[in-house]
Amino acid sequence: MIGQPTILIVDDEPANIEALASSLEELYEVQFALSGQEALARARMSPQPDLILLDVIMPEMDGFAICRLLKVDRRTVDIPVIFVTALANPDEEAKGFDCGAVDFIIKPFKDVVVQARVRNHLEIKRTRELLQRLAVTDSLTGLANRRHFEDALAHEVNRQRRRRGDLALVLIDVDFFKQYNDYYGHPAGDYILKTLAEALSSTLRRPADLIARIGGEEFACLLPETELAGAMAVAERIRSNIEALAMPHIHSSVAPYVTVSLGVAIVDSAEPDASAKLYKLADAQLYKAKQRGRNRVVGIEMPVLESARGMVP
Ligand code: GH3
Ligand code: MG
Ligand code: MG
Repeated sequence: MIGQPTILIVDDEPANIEALASSLEELYEVQFALSGQEALARARMSPQPDLILLDVIMPEMDGFAICRLLKVDRRTVDIPVIFVTALANPDEEAKGFDCGAVDFIIKPFKDVVVQARVRNHLEIKRTRELLQRLAVTDSLTGLANRRHFEDALAHEVNRQRRRRGDLALVLIDVDFFKQYNDYYGHPAGDYILKTLAEALSSTLRRPADLIARIGGEEFACLLPETELAGAMAVAERIRSNIEALAMPHIHSSVAPYVTVSLGVAIVDSAEPDASAKLYKLADAQLYKAKQRGRNRVVGIEMPVLESARGMVP
């Protein structure tokens, strides 16, 4: 919700809309719909309403049917629906909740009651959205956290499986970061991690790419529909952009500034256990990058890949 929340009022009777709108329009952006079809279209349209006030009895499609349709559509399922009705009957009220509504307002209503219920449900929605965002965000860097990364990896494997696409993963680990913290202190180490997160974000530009902090000083970039050569190029760009920041690290044995090692792998999403395999392969390449001297990119070698694909016996 940015700025004033938007409330959609759905009623076939313009006078009823007027009555509700007059109690809300000072505090909210108010939209109207006179029929079920109009309401569904409006609810899917951007900017989407933050809350819907829904009349029960309407010709063609009644409020219960509209609510059910809103609740089975991914795009509208999270919009709270409050029924506003003259049907002061416990069975009708129960039916409303059963359809997925969050509240029930009986006509005739008092303005303060409508305002209070709308305010409360908007607050619940805002809190839920905030918690959802926090649950998938790394608090230090603002990047996706490990949980988000794991979900995204599973999701991307499924998506690429349907499109028969490849999925690339770049794992990034800071070189001699323990020494950095020991010498410069933990707050300075945290500052490095934030700076690296910004460098990753500005290096990766495709909206489908996911950048995550998956461990203390370990980052991951998930690159859908990317071939090995493309992923290697991205990884090398990350490595050189970080090197170019020239952030002093006098206790690194590889360079006088902060560097990273990167492991790159791709996987054919049709393989069983593709996400675990991809992670393991990328991690093995990262290990090799460390072994071979750090501040470098190591990618999966093609024969390994082809045998993993069943092309080499
Ligand atoms: P290598 O080149 O082999 O990766 O060596 P390294 O010292 O980076 O590796 P190691 O895994 O031994 O040490 C990781 C260090 O990262 C340990 C800790 O000091 C630091 N670290 C982990 N998480 C954080 C964090 O959230 N903030 C800060 N400042 N440092 C962290
Ligand atoms: Mg490290
Ligand atoms: Mg590490």
